[in-house]
Parts: sequence; structure tokens; C-alpha cells
Amino acid sequence: MEIWLKKNECTGCGACSNVCPKGAIKMIEDECGFKYPVIDHTLCINCGLCKKTCPIVSKFETARFDKPSVYATWSKDEENRYISTSGGMFFELAKYVIENKGSVVGARYNKNNLVEHYLVNNLKGLETLRQSKYLQSDTKNIFKDAQEILKNNKLLLFVGSPCQIAGLMKFLKEDYENLITVEFICRGVNSPKAYRSWLEEIENTEAKKVKKVWFKYKINGWKTSPKCTRVDFTDGSHKVYDGDENKFMSGYLGPNLYIRPSCGNCHFKDLPRQADITLADFWGIDNKLDDDKGTSMVLLNSNKGIDLFDKIKAKIIFDERDFDEILNGNQCFNHSVNINPKSEQFLMSLNDNNFSEQVKKYSKLSIYKKIKKSIKKIIRKK
Ligand SMILES: Cc1cc2nc3c(=O)[nH]c(=O)nc-3n(C[C@H](O)[C@H](O)[C@H](O)COP(=O)(O)OP(=O)(O)OC[C@H]3O[C@@H](n4cnc5c(N)ncnc54)[C@H](O)[C@@H]3O)c2cc1C
Repeated sequence: MEIWLKKNECTGCGACSNVCPKGAIKMIEDECGFKYPVIDHTLCINCGLCKKTCPIVSKFETARFDKPSVYATWSKDEENRYISTSGGMFFELAKYVIENKGSVVGARYNKNNLVEHYLVNNLKGLETLRQSKYLQSDTKNIFKDAQEILKNNKLLLFVGSPCQIAGLMKFLKEDYENLITVEFICRGVNSPKAYRSWLEEIENTEAKKVKKVWFKYKINGWKTSPKCTRVDFTDGSHKVYDGDENKFMSGYLGPNLYIRPSCGNCHFKDLPRQADITLADFWGIDNKLDDDKGTSMVLLNSNKGIDLFDKIKAKIIFDERDFDEILNGNQCFNHSVNINPKSEQFLMSLNDNNFSEQVKKYSKLSIYKKIKKSIKKIIRKK
């Protein structure tokens, strides 16, 4: 039995593996570092549940608004806002759920510095979920764990990329009243292999072990944060990689060197959204609502989303905005990225080469592209 029609359409959400009644499907990393389902045919009973549950084969139709309300917002808690990737909205929403005896699922770093989905029930655990990690998170058995919580009538907030939320909904086959889903506008998830290779290079150069990576470090402000990453070491020191020195984000933002193939043709863009709430950076927001400390965009896509947002209003600054403003600085809302045609070659080259050198080599613009870019610049100046 084939689960996906084409390999490059599989998002690796893990719904098929979670649903298999025989545990016959394992998510296994390919040579580029992305996980794909692999079936153990000695266990498979050909029930077809994996294919039925795949959100690429068909989506679970949830009642999401055709035109959600849009807010520019940030947390009044300055420390939370600084630590968070944009305006700290995830933490405020999740904190409300925890304080009301609920559970939260999101992405955290595991002991190997890779990213996995994890369920927490307290504020200490919540802190490990905060912040964007720009590589693909392993969902493991989290859809099954989420279902158990929901069946016990406990409140659950589940955060993930739009394809992960689509996978969760297909797995659950039901939009539980006690479930609130949160997604982010997604530029695409990077290969854990590329990330591992970058960390290895840092560890070798610094002769220290990496403890934690803090993407979008706002030491120089929110607007320049996409290329500013802080790396904490186990000896208590840290180093900041900013601008062109930040090789991981340099190979992601622009050349799109190690984004998952399925992100090049994402099925979960635009409206209606997959989750009750969509979060993003409010790039392009006017100066009145931009103090360079991080402004979140919040889309309320369902009544459950509106209810939760109402509950945290005392904790945040917010301003309702025009729907059309979404696109000012966030093309990823409705457009997939163009994956670099040499992406696979790049990822294979990491087997024998240094990460930074390869990013430099593969990011070089072709002469034709350079001429085109210069002409465009001249035209813009006129
Ligand atoms: C891979 C990726 C691509 C993104 N692309 C864009 C974009 O193009 N435009 C844009 O405006 N915003 C994008 N975002 C979202 C943005 O970075 C912020 O996460 C969002 O604005 C929420 O910020 P916050 O301050 O409210 O909370 P944060 O504290 O930043 O919360 C982030 C939430 O996302 C979860 N999370 C973190 N990493 C992952 C992961 N790898 N997989 C699944 N869940 C994860 C965390 O558990 C947490 O719940 C992206 C995020 C990621 C992870």
C-alpha cells in the first residue's frame, strides 16, 4: 500500500503513523534529513486507514471563517514579549489554558537539540515550548496523546504548523469543543540534517557543547531579528550570530536551501485556515503599532478562537486591523516558497563538507540572476 501519491507532497505530519492500528508505520529520516512514513509490510493488514487519514489525500472540513478578524497585538508582559518570537501571543494564550487546568502541546528542543512535539501541564513546561524553532518538529505519537486528553474532557491547546494541524484534525475526525488549535503562518520547515550540521560546525569551532538555540534574538530589535540567533553553550557562555554570520538563517531566508520539498507546494495556505487561531509576525504594520519589540498578527478563525482571545484581552495590547493588511509583509500567508532546485544536492553535500562553506557556495547567485537583480535595482531608483 502507498500512503502518498508523490513523495514530495508528504508533509511528514505523522497522522498515518499515529492512526495505524498495528504500529506498522514508522517515520524514518531520508538522506536529506526529512522524515517519511515507512510501512513494515509484515505488520500491515491493508486496512487503508493511513491513506484515509492523510491530510494531503483529503482534508477534514472544519468550520473556519471565510474572513477572520485580524488583530495587531502584543503581550503586556515585557519579559515574555522579549523572549517570544514576535509579540508573545502564544505564551499568553497557553498560560490561560494552563491556569485553567488545561494542557498545551507545542514544539520543544529534545536532549539532542532537535525539535519534537510535547505535552505540558504546567508553566515551567510551557516555557520550553515558547519561541519558534526553524526546523521540522517530530510529532511522534502526539496526536494519540492529544486524543486521550480530549476524550477525558480536559481543555487542550495544540500548536503546530498548518500541515500539522491539518494532520491532527484528520486523525481526530472531530472538532472537539475542548480543543483549541493554533497555527502560524509558515515559510516552510527546514531539514533537521542541515540544522545538525550547522550545530556540529559551531561545536567544533567553539570546542563547546550547544545547550539551546534562540532564534530571532531581539537584542538589536524585532525587525532585524530574523537573522539574529543566540546560541547558549553548556558552560554558561553564549554567542550571537547576526546577519551574514548567521549561516543557518542565511541559507533559509533567501536561497531556501533546506526547506522540506512539500513546502514548495503547500496545501494549507490562504483561507479558510486550518486552526482556530493563526499567529504570525505583523510585518509591515504601521509605526504607531511598531516599537521594534515585536508585534504579533492574530487571526481569529472560529468562535473558539474568539472566545479564547476575549479571555486574555486584559493581558495584551490589541488593535483590530483591516484584513488586507495581512499581505503587506507576509506573502507566506497565501504563497508557497520556491525551494532551491539544488536543495537535494546541497543536503547530500553535507555528508562530506562543512556547513558554512556549502551555504556560501550554493547561495552564490548565477551571473544571469545577478544582472537581473541589478537591472531591477536601477529601475526602482528611477
Ligand atoms: C518554521 C516556522 C516558520 C514560520 N514562518 C513564518 C512566516 O513566514 N511569517 C510569519 O509571520 N511568521 C512565521 N512563523 C511564526 C513566527 O515565527 C511566530 O512563531 C509567531 O508569530 C508566534 O509568535 P509568538 O511570539 O506568539 O510565540 P512564540 O513563543 O514564538 O511561539 C511559537 C509557537 O510555535 C511552536 N513552534 C515553534 N517551533 C515550531 C516548529 N518547528 N514546528 C511546530 N511548532 C513550532 C511553539 O511550540 C510555540 O507554541 C514561523 C514559525 C515557524 C516555527
